[in-house]
Amino acid sequence: MHKIDEKLADVTARIMRAAQSAQRNAADISLLAVSKTQPAERLREAYNAGARRFGENYLQEALDKQQELTALNDIEWHFIGPIQSNKTRAIATHFSWVHSVERLKIARRLNDQRPAELGPLNICLQLNIDNEPSKAGVTLNELTTLAGQVAQLPNLALRGLMAIPAPASNPEDSRRSFAQVAAALKQLRQSHPNCPLDTLSMGMSADLEAAIAEGATTVRIGTDIFGPRPNAAAANARSL
Ligand SMILES: *Cc1c(COP(=O)(O)O)cnc(C)c1O
Repeated sequence: MHKIDEKLADVTARIMRAAQSAQRNAADISLLAVSKTQPAERLREAYNAGARRFGENYLQEALDKQQELTALNDIEWHFIGPIQSNKTRAIATHFSWVHSVERLKIARRLNDQRPAELGPLNICLQLNIDNEPSKAGVTLNELTTLAGQVAQLPNLALRGLMAIPAPASNPEDSRRSFAQVAAALKQLRQSHPNCPLDTLSMGMSADLEAAIAEGATTVRIGTDIFGPRPNAAAANARSL
């Protein structure tokens, strides 16, 4: 297995190449290192190789790692997993971004519980772009209403959309879904000119090229930076 610094360099090179083929500026695409189930030491390795933005899915696991890594105080923490209402206070306090907002109740709690001194919490609404019953996120139909409501919450900055297309054997097959997410963001920008809607959080290890071709501004990469996830079952159990 390659070391994290080599893997991170490979992923960064893929992002550059994908930006080039899409005639986009690579500086407009940022990498979120998805570190769920990885021990703090692996995050530290990624940090030493240059990663500064980390995405976590399970609250307790993330808080433990944040504690271990407090010395690395320029890490930007993103919450990207499902959110239960009893977890909103800790999420609003310990993260800069939340990519997985799909309900007004959760958005209101994050808004009410965001410590004022931290400034607005950056929010992406999760879109279930392929209408999969098993997947989190609002449908395109529900998006307009939820975005309108979240846009009015003063302690949240509505930054954009996050989506995970249906599994595809060929990542190119996801391009249509990614394009629909991009179109939805464009529409939101028109209806909410006062919101800083600049973020398309889409693309993972298998399909970052397709996502970048359709306008992704944040790609969320786990496996291709850290390798296969250890212990996923144990981490899931801890988070319950
Ligand atoms: C785990 C996860 C990722 C990373 O997936 P990889 O295929 O390992 O790159 C990205 N986004 C979300 C929401 C995830 O839960």
